[in-house]
Amino acid sequence: MKLYKFGGSSVKDATAMRKVTSIIEEEPECSIVVISATKNTTNELELIAKYSLNNLDRARHQWLSTLKRHQQICEDLGVYVSFEHISDEVLELTQSLNCLNEIEPKLMDQLYSVGERISTLILNSYLQKAITRKVSLKDVREVLFTDEQWSFACPIVERIKDCAWPITNNEIILTQGFIGRTVDGATTTLGREGSDFSATLLAQAHGCNEVCIWTDVEGVATLDPRLSSEAQFLSTMSYDQAATLASLGAKVLFKRTLEPAKKEGFLVRVKSTMKPDLAGTVISSIPNESKYIAMAVEGSFISIIGRELSQDILKNYLLEKEISPLSISSTENSISFEIAKQKMNSAVDHIHDLILTNLHNV
Ligand code: ADP
Ligand code: ASP
Ligand code: MG
Repeated sequence: MKLYKFGGSSVKDATAMRKVTSIIEEEPECSIVVISATKNTTNELELIAKYSLNNLDRARHQWLSTLKRHQQICEDLGVYVSFEHISDEVLELTQSLNCLNEIEPKLMDQLYSVGERISTLILNSYLQKAITRKVSLKDVREVLFTDEQWSFACPIVERIKDCAWPITNNEIILTQGFIGRTVDGATTTLGREGSDFSATLLAQAHGCNEVCIWTDVEGVATLDPRLSSEAQFLSTMSYDQAATLASLGAKVLFKRTLEPAKKEGFLVRVKSTMKPDLAGTVISSIPNESKYIAMAVEGSFISIIGRELSQDILKNYLLEKEISPLSISSTENSISFEIAKQKMNSAVDHIHDLILTNLHNV
């Protein structure tokens, strides 16, 4: 059994939702589908919260524009979805935030949940008419129990397993990423970009043997492809290598995504929704054998992940390029350098060259 997770850009409009539908339809083993809010919606919900504090009209105006964008997707897909209840809920939340005059984290989580709830409503309506398999839309808050750390909630794994949905043959469950609930029934969220983690947690609870994270790039790359057109997509890496890269700032996967996968030993693939025929990156217990595998850039820090890395060798390499790091620290499979702002671009290029020269990407 496989679980497919589609990120915000993969469900951003009607064309993207149609593409998602054809990907789901082509895989009879795909039994659970987790989706994010449509691209930018979570940011817009944050704006709505901010405006609610001192300008309710502006907050309402922003919500109407978010809503309109979703209604347009429905129209383009030829489906009708009623957003009346959700819209009332959003307007009530803006009032409550306004009265409190602060972005109360518990209310923010309730507001955040709107993004994934409306994207799943739309995709569900389209899937009902577009594919022959039975599709059941489920509220992930029936199963994804967390603690009460609003906006950064931690899953209660045993409880999630106990509440797993029964899944019958030929059925697809469609549900929301990012959101969860406390034991008392309040809505929580796992942290921005947390839908990847929802996916692996649900896969763990339902005994899936593979998760595919469908996104807007072809896999995990040696460097964020937005930072370099030379970035190469990795064919394989281990759970630990991918988790380290994510924890050092590579946005492609949420930091905790690989925890359930490593524990249960299921495969995680990262693939492109727009180019589904490409193999993508396979993440498993088998490490990528390259000396230098990938790098991440976060603020003034550049981190490199690899195997048996030596601080001295990397420091000397940078010194040869006339770059002296401000500080160096390392973990078992990574080394991080702090770099002065004016040397940052050249340090990124040189470290990336080093990775590409040594990469065995088979
Ligand atoms: P989604 O909406 O599908 O969750 P994200 O925006 O969260 O997508 O993650 C995909 C983005 O991650 C890519 O567009 C890319 O710019 C960025 N990214 C950062 N580091 C890497 C990396 N090493 N490999 C691939 N993508 C990366
Ligand atoms: N929609 C949420 C966010 O934008 C979660 C996610 O996309 O993973 O942070
Ligand atoms: Mg993401």
